Amino acid sequence: MSFWPPPDLDPSSPEAAGRLAVLAYHRVGDRAAAAFDPWVFTSDQQQLEDQIQYFQKRHRIVGLEEALAIASGRERLRGTAILLTFDDGYLDNYSVALPVLTSRKAEAVFFLVSGFMIGEASPWWDRVAWLVRTARQRCFSLPTCEGPRTVDLRDRPPEEAISTVLDLYKQCPPDVAAQFVEGLESVDRDAGQPPPDRQLLGPDEAKLLCAAGMSVGAHTHSHPILARLAAERQSEEMGQCRTILEGVIGTPVDVLAYPVGGPGDFDQVTQQLARDCGYRAAFSCHGGVNLPGRSGLYDLKRIAVYWGANPEYLLD
Ligand SMILES: [Zn+2]
Repeated sequence: MSFWPPPDLDPSSPEAAGRLAVLAYHRVGDRAAAAFDPWVFTSDQQQLEDQIQYFQKRHRIVGLEEALAIASGRERLRGTAILLTFDDGYLDNYSVALPVLTSRKAEAVFFLVSGFMIGEASPWWDRVAWLVRTARQRCFSLPTCEGPRTVDLRDRPPEEAISTVLDLYKQCPPDVAAQFVEGLESVDRDAGQPPPDRQLLGPDEAKLLCAAGMSVGAHTHSHPILARLAAERQSEEMGQCRTILEGVIGTPVDVLAYPVGGPGDFDQVTQQLARDCGYRAAFSCHGGVNLPGRSGLYDLKRIAVYWGANPEYLLD
């Protein structure tokens, strides 16, 4: 049941006063036609439209400023406020999600990776997915933090094969991850694949998102797992992203979403560094809903939307 407060909660308690649910979307579009990683698709256009319609009927979709006012306890509310967010800056966020948002008069925050936006970096998960899709050899050995590991993808459908290899990759510290990709690149593969279309939005689309009333936040320069980096490198990733994004859109970019955003992907040091870099709030990608005034502004919780999610159960 998505109405708040639930009947068994004392209506005079602080918990019943209201809650802020921050939803984390990624790609929006046709998952079955994905050339790269299908797991980064969180909805297609129709699902997004249906979910927004559902939330607008039962709750209230708010913009970034109101969400931060609620989270910090400066604004009291009853019921559920919802903030929509989109990570990584895929082109479909502009071409598919934005028209839905504008037609429904809903605001959202787009967390952009500055290196992806200016073409200096590309998503490692898409690189890995592409290498797995095009590998003719389906059984090979890859370096992992526990030594060489045999990966057997025979008889595995592409989506499952990609998921298996991505799971292994995510366990690798940065130096082993580089060797892992090199190992995957050396696997015998089909030649002559068509070049992929542009997948990520660029500076022009970032400006158009802002012109359409959306907010832009930072998601680092190259999307590393911050907790695995030395403090200095973490600051560079967070600071460079902010500088580049502000240079493009011409307004302050002072909210951040930690890459990946699971409990082990950022820590107390990361949170302090985010504050030192001038961010006024930062979002994880786990943890459920936020209770006003109770959530740390550098560890705001988000709910990861998944493909085919029924909006009725997303907030529970
Ligand atoms: Zn991300």
